[in-house]
Amino acid sequence: MLIYGKDIREQIKERVCQTAVELKMGLAIIRVGDDPSSLAYVRGICKFAEEAGVKAEIINLPDTIAETELLRIIADLNHNPEFTGIMLQTPFPASLNASRLVNAVDFDKDVEGIHNYNLGKLVSKEEGVRPCTPKAVISMLKAHNIPIEGQKVTIIGRSMTVGSPLALMMTAENATVTVCHTRSRNLKEEALRADILVAAVGKREFITADMVHKDMVVIDVGINFDENGKMRGDVHEEARNCCRIASAVPGGIGIITVAELFDNLRILSQRA
Ligand code: NAP
Repeated sequence: MLIYGKDIREQIKERVCQTAVELKMGLAIIRVGDDPSSLAYVRGICKFAEEAGVKAEIINLPDTIAETELLRIIADLNHNPEFTGIMLQTPFPASLNASRLVNAVDFDKDVEGIHNYNLGKLVSKEEGVRPCTPKAVISMLKAHNIPIEGQKVTIIGRSMTVGSPLALMMTAENATVTVCHTRSRNLKEEALRADILVAAVGKREFITADMVHKDMVVIDVGINFDENGKMRGDVHEEARNCCRIASAVPGGIGIITVAELFDNLRILSQRA
């Protein structure tokens, strides 16, 4: 069975709309260079902003920009009351230090929940702004009444924005978590052990039918594009057909992630 994110997106949008009527909400999106997959994400964000009645401004910058200049732009946005959240669209050109830039954003405007301050809150299990895609994965499971507590969860991918924070959030939900990456051995066995398998690899059709079983829930975080420009996940279609539940791509985690970004903006605006 395929599961989708549309209803969850709409529910979150309703909450955001209500807050947008009462409070000032503004999102600044800094986009460096012209990576096509980031463009799809930014388009989705602008559409949601329009539907929810929230101001979203994209600041497009060339990939030749000096880091000092970018730090100055971030500092200006930190002091600009028009914006209650600042987002840095990744990937960055290799010449820029991603960690330095993310941590230059005021943590009170860290709408992506990836500033060291918010990641620290996540580790210490304190209330804070959580990273959007891991939030989307948990929302997807909960909305479809898929239990997490006590389940064996295998996450393939350990990035700072997806795999690693998701592992912490799943642990906080009382799952038993295994995280796999490029140095993992026996990936297939690690995958097959899971009740819930999360693919956050960034490689089209990476999860094949022999890596899943009939009782498994498979959450596909991947966003890849085929030669015709069509969006594809990390999970092969055959694998989707061999498990109990699989999340759709497109129409799954991606659209919830956009909504969770605005849910974080809502939280930040209520605190401001
Ligand atoms: P990333 O930073 O490139 O991380 C990819 C992870 O996958 C790394 O931890 C890497 O391991 C692991 N990996 C790569 N090849 C592997 C292999 N052959 N075997 C095992 N592990 C492997 O990517 P990301 O930012 O986490 O994003 C992952 C995917 O999710 C991408 O397709 C991205 O577009 C998508 N994404 C979707 C959303 C959404 O809203 N749906 C949001 C964010 C990202 P190492 O650490 O060892 O290198």
